[in-house]
Amino acid sequence: MEITKLHDLYFKKYITEQELKTIVKELAIQVKNDLPKDEVPIFIGILNGCFIFVADFVREFKGDCELSFVKLASYEGTSSSEKVKELIGVNENLEGRTVIILEDVIDTGNTLQDIYKIFNEHKVKELKIVTLFFKPDVYKKELPIHYVGKSIEDKFIVGYGLDYNGYGRNLPAIYQLTSSPKMKNIVLFGPPGAGKGTQAEILKEKYNLKHISTGDVFRYNIKNETELGVLAKSYMDKGDLVPDEVTINMLKDEVNKNPDVKGFIFDGFPRTESQAIALDEFLAEKGECINGMIALEVSEDLLVQRILERGKTSGRVDDQNEAKIRNRFNEYNTKTAVLKDFYKSQNKCYLVNGVGDIEEITERLSDVFDKL
Ligand code: AMP
Repeated sequence: MEITKLHDLYFKKYITEQELKTIVKELAIQVKNDLPKDEVPIFIGILNGCFIFVADFVREFKGDCELSFVKLASYEGTSSSEKVKELIGVNENLEGRTVIILEDVIDTGNTLQDIYKIFNEHKVKELKIVTLFFKPDVYKKELPIHYVGKSIEDKFIVGYGLDYNGYGRNLPAIYQLTSSPKMKNIVLFGPPGAGKGTQAEILKEKYNLKHISTGDVFRYNIKNETELGVLAKSYMDKGDLVPDEVTINMLKDEVNKNPDVKGFIFDGFPRTESQAIALDEFLAEKGECINGMIALEVSEDLLVQRILERGKTSGRVDDQNEAKIRNRFNEYNTKTAVLKDFYKSQNKCYLVNGVGDIEEITERLSDVFDKL
């Protein structure tokens, strides 16, 4: 999932799990290397945001260490304007110890200042600061920060322990605040012959959306004998999928040709998991996302009859021969059907019965469209 909604705001993926892993490991190695041999540090995590970072960091730290967590509580002081900061949870005797603070993010440095003040009272041997993220543009203090995992721009982030109003701590990657999507983008999904094209033509009018059928774009290119058409034809005639790279680039071009539309109905795309991932990433770059994937469900035998019927008038080579049709189903079952799970894991998959009159099915689809 590249764009995620928490409460009223949208966030886009900013730092991947893999990058986080590398950053945290690197920090743990540096901290270890700078310690005197046999020195057993006490790590102190500043809750709540640090909990995942700390859990990962200490597992990458090769050597003996102790670990504690504290919470910085602020309460009104005796004089009305004063805010007093207090640490909750330091039970260890820190005198003479090497204390290493683990922070998730340091921005203005106000919290850091409180930390310095409080820990200096504990007569520690040495106090070092490790922060996963640092926002140099807003840091206003002179206090040293000994280790920075990654410097980031001053934008609100969530995930990997960090929250927005309590939500988002469980996201495994870091997400950054982004503008609200303006489009309604829907993937109309289903096996060949399920009625995606027919329904998309009706729904695009009803909802004022742009319909992109990758099959239609390929057929247009074949008819006009473009380079793309020549390439695609050899695959299409057999009922095989056109290679991902070709299809993805074509799809992006089609989207980019329509910058001002209210959204898209994608028909026949994505058809593989890498197409679905590419689509998510491509839309996220624009601050947009897929609102939902609607799967039209029809049994295969019924579909073969429908397609053979359509083949009498459609002029499509791949509609006229049962072996080719079966091959298209094979492609669907082995490469495309998995996308249901892909969208289910994003909570975006809607199943609609695709058997019935055209109007009846439009009704069922509209019920879902209205919700998205
Ligand atoms: P359709 O009109 O959606 O049934 O597509 C007809 C044919 O176009 C398919 O059998 C494929 O050969 C090709 N095609 C259409 N969309 C895609 C896609 N997303 N990925 C790969 N091949 C595609």
